[in-house]
Amino acid sequence: MQLRGRVLSVASECVPLIKTGGLADVVGALPAALAAVGWEMRVLMPAYRALRVRLAGMTEVWFEADLFGGEGRVFAGEVAGISVLLLDAPHLYDREGGPYSGPGGDWPDNARRFAALSWVGARMAREGFGGWKPDVLHAHDWQAGFAPAYLAFGGAAGVASVLTIHNIAFQGWAPASALMDLRLPFQQFHPDVLEYYGGLSSLKAGLVTADRITTVSPSYAAELMRPEFGMGLQGVIAARAGVVSGILNGVDTGVWSPEAEPVPYSVTAMKGKAANRAEICAEFGLDVPGPLAILVSRLTDQKGIDLLAGTIPDFIAGGGGLIVLGSGDPALEGAVLGLQARHGGRVAVRIGYDEALSHRLFAGGDAVLVPSRFEPCGLTQMYGLRYGTVPVVSAVGGLADTVIHASPAALAAKVATGIVFHPVDGVALGQALRGLLALYADRATWAQVQKNAMRQAVGWEASAAAYAALYEGIAR
Ligand code: ADP
Repeated sequence: MQLRGRVLSVASECVPLIKTGGLADVVGALPAALAAVGWEMRVLMPAYRALRVRLAGMTEVWFEADLFGGEGRVFAGEVAGISVLLLDAPHLYDREGGPYSGPGGDWPDNARRFAALSWVGARMAREGFGGWKPDVLHAHDWQAGFAPAYLAFGGAAGVASVLTIHNIAFQGWAPASALMDLRLPFQQFHPDVLEYYGGLSSLKAGLVTADRITTVSPSYAAELMRPEFGMGLQGVIAARAGVVSGILNGVDTGVWSPEAEPVPYSVTAMKGKAANRAEICAEFGLDVPGPLAILVSRLTDQKGIDLLAGTIPDFIAGGGGLIVLGSGDPALEGAVLGLQARHGGRVAVRIGYDEALSHRLFAGGDAVLVPSRFEPCGLTQMYGLRYGTVPVVSAVGGLADTVIHASPAALAAKVATGIVFHPVDGVALGQALRGLLALYADRATWAQVQKNAMRQAVGWEASAAAYAALYEGIAR
């Protein structure tokens, strides 16, 4: 494959090194997907405590004598086929806990920690290192939001920039008094550039300075310009509508494959799915005559988990069952545990994060519930499509873009892949669950919907082609 260009990706998470959400999956998947279309991508991220052991086998390629209060070094190496650049700055990242928080909650210096990542990203992009200079700097979310800003303020030196919004709920807020500490130019502190409700937002800074803005689905791109989804940034994004686009994420179809599950199955040989179902029912002590729904998610308000308590009892009465795998808000954990307590044998809950179990659930479940209030792209509905585990989703963001509702017309045309409901409330979810019971009871139609779902392309190929086209359009 001929090299078409180089991209420096700047992010706070990357599978398989560290993950707290879908962002990490995307950052980790893009390098291989882009390599297949001629774009070389390297990923710059912090060397958190758990990652420092890897530095020994890597090569130092960059040094900062004063990186926001201490030395910073960047080490280059390869991890799982990804060309990784780890920013080692112990005063910022060598801490007990996760990327954003420790035992006492969010780190109070998060603005500075990720400004430092962005600072190094912009400088390395501008100056190049070890004979390598990117054509494009690709920043992800608020953690890298200042990278396009530093690049623009310091002179872009022929490097174009892209900012991708994975979730606008996190905006990297800091008080105006942090301006100097974050090495931002005072003359840019006005509403058109840095000022955000009297303070600073690294995400806004990236949105106003990047050459292109993308988000992870076309629907979310449009939603973000509306107050109910834009979370304060709708005006900023609408003002740049001409450079905003949505590119759907893919899933790793090697990792997420029904042919790789305990009892393999495929669209042409579905028998194994029933065996997987029997295994998880046995594992969780469930006996479910109707559809077995699964839900694998962070348990937060965003994900619509609060709608389950009012809707699942009727679904159970109609013959359905539910397995929830997730953790998060204690009140929502309590609510799903309450359902389990009241509906033993039909509802099972596992509080925690368990990737292996999630695979078994997709392999054995009949349907996957994704009742999100907003969903930039969403991954679990795509796993559901791939596994013939029919997605039941709200009509928002990437959910609306990836699932075709089983309307009479779509069923007749053999294109329906799931159930889509709107608005995001208990009435509509209840109706969707009644629709699920009815669809499941009609075995021939159900089998057809499963097939339609499994035939839908959910890999990275289309996304990679779209990113490549975007880069090509801005590379100077
Ligand atoms: P978000 O990034 O908002 O959490 P996504 O659907 O985009 O939502 O990505 C979530 C990812 O995390 C998916 O890969 C999903 O399967 C996974 N996940 C979420 N909760 C759990 C859990 N409790 N156990 C295993 N995997 C989980």
